[in-house]
Amino acid sequence: MQYEELIDFGLTDEQKMVRKAARAFAEKEILPVIDRYEKEGRFPREIVEKVAKLGYLGVIVPEEYGGAGMDFVSYGIICEEIARADWVTASVISVQNSLVESSILNFGTEEQKQRFLVPLAQGKKLAAAGLTEPGGGSDLANMMSTAKLEGDHYVLNGSKVFISHASHADVILVFASINRDLKHKGVTAFILEKGTPGLIINPIPMHGLRRGDICELVFDGCRVPHENLLGKEGEGFKILGAAVDTGRFSVASRCVGQAQACIDASLKYARERTAFDQEIGRFQMIQQKIADMITSVDAARLLVRRLGQAKDAGLRRNSLEASIAKLFASDACMKAVQDAVQIHGGYGLAEEYPIGRFLFEGKILQIGEGTNEIHRMLIAEYALGYRRQ
Ligand SMILES: Cc1cc2nc3c(=O)[nH]c(=O)nc-3n(C[C@H](O)[C@H](O)[C@H](O)COP(=O)(O)OP(=O)(O)OC[C@H]3O[C@@H](n4cnc5c(N)ncnc54)[C@H](O)[C@@H]3O)c2cc1C
Repeated sequence: MQYEELIDFGLTDEQKMVRKAARAFAEKEILPVIDRYEKEGRFPREIVEKVAKLGYLGVIVPEEYGGAGMDFVSYGIICEEIARADWVTASVISVQNSLVESSILNFGTEEQKQRFLVPLAQGKKLAAAGLTEPGGGSDLANMMSTAKLEGDHYVLNGSKVFISHASHADVILVFASINRDLKHKGVTAFILEKGTPGLIINPIPMHGLRRGDICELVFDGCRVPHENLLGKEGEGFKILGAAVDTGRFSVASRCVGQAQACIDASLKYARERTAFDQEIGRFQMIQQKIADMITSVDAARLLVRRLGQAKDAGLRRNSLEASIAKLFASDACMKAVQDAVQIHGGYGLAEEYPIGRFLFEGKILQIGEGTNEIHRMLIAEYALGYRRQ
């Protein structure tokens, strides 16, 4: 019995094929070139174009709207396998499917679906999602950006920060308040298009992940046509809640993929590297790290799978299960990254190995789509009866 042969109950033959195809693509088309994008600090546009051709930018969108019409478990598998090779490409798939397309699919008019959802799902357009503001990303009900209806346009003022791949996006889903006194009941969703007058996009310098195209959005009297209102006025918080539930599923899947990359690299390195005349894999303290990584990643994968199956069953909102999966998977990922770097010693921080950059990428997964403090708070509040699904 080998580690690679761990029993994996519950996947259909089709889902196993999805895994095989996504893994083969990532190993052939992403892994050999991703270091170059990292060194150049360049958004992996060419890779994104290839994943678009595979239908990965519209995985969960029904075929009638240009998508691949796959189930959530398959979507999670794709996110996991792509994240095993590249954080940014997986982020593009995640934002496009989970935050933007699922919102338009669930809340858009037929006209909006034809205009925005179809080209997004076909991968002809790229999407970004603007929720976080300079004043805070956790307390979204307290949004400072405002939207005022003037004739047949809404005029948006305010700003957003840390918006992934925004300068490459053709469509940006944003949220602003039509009345800040109403708190979450004032939050409203809008579909912005590239080139909308008054929309300014500036890059945000980050310590790492320069290929991630992390941006600030400024709304300076930004004029959005009334037909780009998504859902109704004041319905934005509901749209946002549904979107982040799906977002947490794809982020948790990505955590499993990135953590698996740590296991892969650590197993290889532990067998290659010698100290005191033996492979370092023979040392118990190295073995402990490897055993902990494997166990926690296996558990994370099962939590993610449960969430995917719950979403496929479509019984109800899965906010609690989403928080549990995202919290556990991102903590497991960060721990796996730290242990993998430690196993690699000084080379863990050298450019020769990708592991060092995972320190930054893994950390983001504990912050984005709800910080882990927020998820701990939510899980406890559901359990204590202070909050309901
Ligand atoms: C690389 C990167 C990409 C991102 N991409 C996007 C994107 O595409 N779109 C987007 O909208 N956002 C994006 N974000 C933003 C991300 O979602 C936010 O950073 C996150 O939600 C936290 O918001 P904040 O940074 O304002 O922290 P804050 O909300 O200011 O929180 C600061 C600290 O206080 C803690 N805290 C806050 N409230 C509580 C509480 N009630 N109880 C306990 N602790 C609390 C937080 O956990 C955190 O530790 C991205 C961020 C990064 C780093």
